[in-house]
Amino acid sequence: MLFRLIYASEPAAPLDASQIDAILATARRNNQRMDVTGMLAFDSQAFLQVLEGDRGQLSALYSRLVADPRHRSLHILGMAAIDARDFGTWDMGFAAANARHQALFLQHGTNRRFEPQHLSAAAAVALLKDLAAQAAS
Ligand code: FAD
Repeated sequence: MLFRLIYASEPAAPLDASQIDAILATARRNNQRMDVTGMLAFDSQAFLQVLEGDRGQLSALYSRLVADPRHRSLHILGMAAIDARDFGTWDMGFAAANARHQALFLQHGTNRRFEPQHLSAAAAVALLKDLAAQAAS
């Protein structure tokens, strides 16, 4: 059965573009092998990630994510069975969240800042879809 895991976290220390690229390269390599798809959004203060795939694969991946010293304060926003993937075209899509997206943060959250730890699962998925659409346009 297909599941979707959504979590938010904070970078443990400032991360530059090459460190984000390294995270994405590992994610894409591993996720393709595990048939996991998803999307990662990041600003300097927070990560928001959605992962879709087999429940066992997601549980094992989440254990590795929790142990990764590059981020901390992981909050699970949702883990639920889904009928179909929303992010099926990406081994791991990416969007840099920033001040240009204030209207989206307000639309899906409670203020103009990227504070994903406060979002419901549904709002987090909607925000990630909109960030993905803007990144692609
Ligand atoms: P390798 O890159 O070979 O890493 C081996 C070990 O070294 C791991 O324990 C890793 O945590 C550690 N490590 C690697 N680079 C650094 C570094 N610069 N600083 C400190 N420790 C380091 N992995 C996925 O497979 N799929 C994902 O979608 C995914 N998303 C991620 C999102 C975020 C926000 C972060 C921070 C990490 C993500 N990762 C993801 C990485 C994940 O946490 C594990 O590091 C990775 O899955 C381990 O796989 P590996 O052994 O092939 O990685």
